[in-house]
Amino acid sequence: MAASNTRIDKRKKAPAKAKTKSGGRARKWVYDFSEGNTNMKDLLGGKGANLAEMTNLGLPVPPGFTITTQACNAYRAASRRFPVGLVEQVAQHLRKLENRMGRRLGDAHDPLLVSVRSGAKFSMPGMMDTVLNVGLNDESVEGLAKQTSDDRFAWDSYRRLLQMFGKTVMGVDGERFEHALDAAKQNARATTDTGLNAEDLEALVEDFKGIIRAETKRDFPQDPVEQLHMGIEAVFGSWDNRRAQDYRRKNRISDDLGTAVNVQTMVFGNRGDDSGTGVVFTRDPATGEKIPTGDYLANAQGEDVVAGIRNTLPVAQMEETQPAAWRALVKNLNRLERHFRDMCDVEFTVEQGALWMLQTRVGKRTAQAEWIIAADMADERLINKDAGVLRLTPNRLDELFKPVINRDAKEKATTIARGLNASPGAAVGQVVFSADEAQARARDGAKVILVRRETTPDDYHGMVASQGILTSAGGTNSHAAVVARGEGIPAVCGADAIRVDREGKKFTVGGTTVNESDWITIDGTDGTVYADQLPLEPSLLERALDGDTQAQSSKLWKSYERFMARADQKRRLKVRANADTPDQSTNARRRGAEGIGLCRTEHMFLGEERVAAVRRMILAESDADERAAYEELLPLQREDFVGIFRAMNGLPVTVRLLDPPLHEFLPDQVQLAIEVALAEKSRIKPKDFAEKKELLAAVNRLHETNPMLGLRGVRLGILKPGLYAMQVRAIVEAACRVKAEGGKPVVEIMIPLVATREELSQMREELEPVAGEAMKAAGQKIPILFGTMIEVPRAAVTAAEIAEVADFFSFGTNDLTQMAFGFSRDDIGKFLAQYEERKLVPANPFVTIDPGVGALMRMAVEQGRSANAHIHFGICGEHGGEDASVKFCHEIGLDYVSCSPFRIPTARLAAGQAALGATESASK
Ligand code: PEP
Ligand code: MG
Repeated sequence: MAASNTRIDKRKKAPAKAKTKSGGRARKWVYDFSEGNTNMKDLLGGKGANLAEMTNLGLPVPPGFTITTQACNAYRAASRRFPVGLVEQVAQHLRKLENRMGRRLGDAHDPLLVSVRSGAKFSMPGMMDTVLNVGLNDESVEGLAKQTSDDRFAWDSYRRLLQMFGKTVMGVDGERFEHALDAAKQNARATTDTGLNAEDLEALVEDFKGIIRAETKRDFPQDPVEQLHMGIEAVFGSWDNRRAQDYRRKNRISDDLGTAVNVQTMVFGNRGDDSGTGVVFTRDPATGEKIPTGDYLANAQGEDVVAGIRNTLPVAQMEETQPAAWRALVKNLNRLERHFRDMCDVEFTVEQGALWMLQTRVGKRTAQAEWIIAADMADERLINKDAGVLRLTPNRLDELFKPVINRDAKEKATTIARGLNASPGAAVGQVVFSADEAQARARDGAKVILVRRETTPDDYHGMVASQGILTSAGGTNSHAAVVARGEGIPAVCGADAIRVDREGKKFTVGGTTVNESDWITIDGTDGTVYADQLPLEPSLLERALDGDTQAQSSKLWKSYERFMARADQKRRLKVRANADTPDQSTNARRRGAEGIGLCRTEHMFLGEERVAAVRRMILAESDADERAAYEELLPLQREDFVGIFRAMNGLPVTVRLLDPPLHEFLPDQVQLAIEVALAEKSRIKPKDFAEKKELLAAVNRLHETNPMLGLRGVRLGILKPGLYAMQVRAIVEAACRVKAEGGKPVVEIMIPLVATREELSQMREELEPVAGEAMKAAGQKIPILFGTMIEVPRAAVTAAEIAEVADFFSFGTNDLTQMAFGFSRDDIGKFLAQYEERKLVPANPFVTIDPGVGALMRMAVEQGRSANAHIHFGICGEHGGEDASVKFCHEIGLDYVSCSPFRIPTARLAAGQAALGATESASK
């Protein structure tokens, strides 16, 4: 990377012109910690705002100041030049800091040293740069040695600065330093870093300086202020590095926010055994249990814990080794929880027995911990029940229903390694050793588990493509663990018996060797690893839903029931399911479905016997043949509807008449053409040759260039009148039978793909008498609603006309998105990644309702309601089970959302939150 040199040269240019609008003084770019508070995250970033908050709470925070996100954005906008006034303001704040500390930055006798850390509004763990020990140089290292009477410590600090600065600021490949460090250890016959003495480290410092010179053609800057400025620039620049961009895209964080930079007095965790550094959560982020949980490394500096380079100890062991610091820490953790009313995540350092708080934020947690913590905090009266509901993340709820390893199989399986239970859930996959490989294979549909010694932020793209992550080093707060928990990917970390041989593409543990592509299973809930492809089974919540009393007595289930009940009580939106069979309907009801919003009848046409009848219907050469085929299909359909109406007794069932193009029920055109051509050439013709030829002719007849825009939906109903009539008869006869049994069928018949009022009104004219006759024949009367899907843009913009002849609208947002964008639903994978990367779409429009599609929906609701006061509205596209989309549906006044049975809890919770006024997921 040559960026470092350009950066330095540019810095010497005149500062960018960034006059204020009034042409007056430069903006305030720098805030002392005492000037900010937790509500200033936009300006000071999350870290800066909370450092300020902790300072104001009187907690022991090393003094410092924050350079604003606006300064970062001004720097980026001005082609990487500092805005007017920034250098001066940094100098002023530095002077104030120096006066306060009674030391000068980089002083030769008693140097003040600072850290320069990134800190965006939303936490982006490890994605941006940090430099520690700024202020050390060839002279001040001696001063530090004298002041601390510790030569080793001073030279170790200096080599750390050179290493970090060289890598992150000057762009030197980090491996160069690692190799030199390994060589130094070998020379000194030391097994760990701490085995190097002062002389070894002094020599290493010279090596590091040489590496920097050789790689960048310039010397490591000795001027402390130059170091500081370069560090600030590096942090600003790291906002735009690839991994930070990837992370933002995945987590939907805007590129415009910029990062703040925190310049903070250094405190040292590497000053002997009465010093150390750690990361602690006020409660267990994996289970939610109310005990401080985290990692501690004695005699180490901050980044060592997060980088997962050395294996850490559980933080609670400080109670024995550092009792005073532990007591102070626990007191501060309680204070922070009471203040923030949430679980907090804290970085701290102990310097010769004294505790320093370096950072806090609301802690990321597993989906399970989210529910447990919310329930406990409600019990402790830290929050009320509604705040508890708002704190839960609907889109993560399905993680809790994810399968776990089958109990018997787990008992019998041999554990090959144990590590930390870093992120819960079980995963089965083939082993890969690089992030790129993980991503490439996952794209081809493979299930992979990424195995590494430790992960770095550069591995992010491969981690999110993996089923699970296994590392041999690092604690529960290592990079791998934090990312895995955030993304809901099962992970086992710090399985230190494993030897990962990345080049050899294998890992060994005990006597077992596992090669690339071998299957393994990991259990992120208890930290075990198996060299097998173990079967998975239902989770705790799934078992509780099934009536398992042991599962029902768990804290998680109780919390689930409590908050879901509250969400249900508050929500205005009803939640229905997309279900096509009696089994799916029963399953949906168990999960809380209040009806079926979409029963796709085409799924009832599958299965050998049925496909044969459907083919007879398609191939019929006379009306009589076609009628005969319908007579065959009618009882099959009717039986299915009976089962569904029984399962949903008393709840509405929206049955959609046949939608897909008919050729979907016929064999593949190319395949069949080849078979017929081959048979034609052979002298002995196969028995079914004539039949195949006939079939090929039909396939050719029905072939369409754009079937999704072709003869499907209501167009089928128009062209094949007997088809929809048969379906309506089957539906109504089934409903009458269930009613006769004493049941209460609630029937809604839905016509798909309508674009004009006439299509719907002609269909109604034809189908209502069919329904009437069926009821008459059965001697029953059942109110039947007829409505349509709104899934063609023309229908949305002429909704007022269509509403005159519709009892309900159901938004088919899959097709509506497809047709609004002109993006094929089936092929978007080819270009979506590029589209998201280049911000050509706000998000994947097939996952979250796009604003343009949303505008069509809003218009259709408004028009529909104005034309027909009795009409009701729902949604049945995939979006109906996605958090933000459900909230949008609430906002535009739909009556219900309908989604797959497994997404129903998500939709219920999102709808509850929408009613409680949540605009975004509360845990962000
Ligand atoms: C839709 O288009 O949103 C819809 C629900 O119908 P299908 O996915 O079956 O086309
Ligand atoms: Mg559709």
